[in-house]
Amino acid sequence: KLLEKKRNYWGKKEKVLGKREKVLEKDSPRPALQLQLGHRALGCCCKGPAPLTPGSLLAEDGDFLALDLGGTNFRVLRVRVSDNGLQKVEMESQIYEIHEDLMRGSGAQLFDHIAECLANFMEKLKIKDKKLPLGFTFSFPCHQTKLDESILVTWTKGFKSPDFDIDIVAVVNDTVGTMMTCGYDDHNCEVGLIVGTGTNACYMEEMRHIDLVEGDEGRMCINMEWGAFGDDGALNDIRTEFDHEIDMGSLNPGKQLFEKMISGMYMGELVRLILVKMAKEGLLFRGKLTSDLRTTGSGWFFAHEILTKLGLEPSHEDCLATHRICQIVSTRSANLCGATLAAVLRRIKENKGVDRLRSTVGVDGSVYKKHPHFARRLHKTVRKLLPDCEIRFVRSEDGSGKGAAMVTAVAYRLAAHQEP
Ligand code: BGC
Ligand code: MG
Repeated sequence: KLLEKKRNYWGKKEKVLGKREKVLEKDSPRPALQLQLGHRALGCCCKGPAPLTPGSLLAEDGDFLALDLGGTNFRVLRVRVSDNGLQKVEMESQIYEIHEDLMRGSGAQLFDHIAECLANFMEKLKIKDKKLPLGFTFSFPCHQTKLDESILVTWTKGFKSPDFDIDIVAVVNDTVGTMMTCGYDDHNCEVGLIVGTGTNACYMEEMRHIDLVEGDEGRMCINMEWGAFGDDGALNDIRTEFDHEIDMGSLNPGKQLFEKMISGMYMGELVRLILVKMAKEGLLFRGKLTSDLRTTGSGWFFAHEILTKLGLEPSHEDCLATHRICQIVSTRSANLCGATLAAVLRRIKENKGVDRLRSTVGVDGSVYKKHPHFARRLHKTVRKLLPDCEIRFVRSEDGSGKGAAMVTAVAYRLAAHQEP
């Protein structure tokens, strides 16, 4: 069913998003750009003379529920919006575990589990009898024509459930949630970036450049799904044998190639593959290979303590070399990420036609927030490539959770005031 839908959408001549017809080549690869927020939602807000910043969106007061699936944890949240639209946002949340077998099991099982968690959460908060609007941060590539309708294009990051459709008030990508929540405090925020289990970014594009959507006024958010950069071969020149090996052993071979060079789910495994090769060539651990080191997924370790845990007897040189390999892998990741982000910011600069761009990037994700050097290296690369821009990086406080509720609150307001 999913494949059929996909084929229909990317088929030869399709009516996409209503009136405008768009011819898509039959064999062309999936475009790296996808529209993420629906016409109805952001399109309405974008219009008018005032420049849109995500923070200028007005939300309805009240209680909203949000689900956040796609990062390290699955979470359920209640978000309370009060004082006339986002002046005050309070939230409570609970993390629920999703076992690996559920990640790879049927879509129905996965969503049954999600529904159970939601019921449990509502029971705890004693709101089981209330019918609250719900937003869903669903951080996977989706084909989305409306705010409340989203069809999964492909799973990423270790998920591999068969197909399903979801039908909720608002479905939001985590990058969009991150940009929205940061945009509330900083009206220059027009990019959302995630470097965590996976990686991706979104930014505000001029409507006049978006062929798939009617209208030329204002701006709209584009979820780039940049993790899929390179799936058409664009990165082949810089992909190493280790990148190929990771890809071949993954759940989604040939897909998310850029993500596999960058994000937290793969960096440790890259290091492990390099160590294995060097040990095999007798360059490390006096040529000794343990079964732990040979085991996929036993990556993410640092020097002596962890090498010892893997049953190796590392020399001082082994530890230094391992540390250096980790450094190379994570620096490459930060540089690739920085270069790509710089390209997006340059695009925004050209769109605005300004000499000097002042812009803010909202960021979230475990790699960005927890790696000791990643953020600094990323900033450095971006600033080096864009000496003519002033780029501010703002850490989002729980954008992927709060963001969905915020978009839901905005959608609610639009529905109440514009569609009587
Ligand atoms: C997904 C994106 C998501 C990113 C960060 C990628 O694997 O395809 O939708 O934004 O991970 O969570
Ligand atoms: Mg997240």
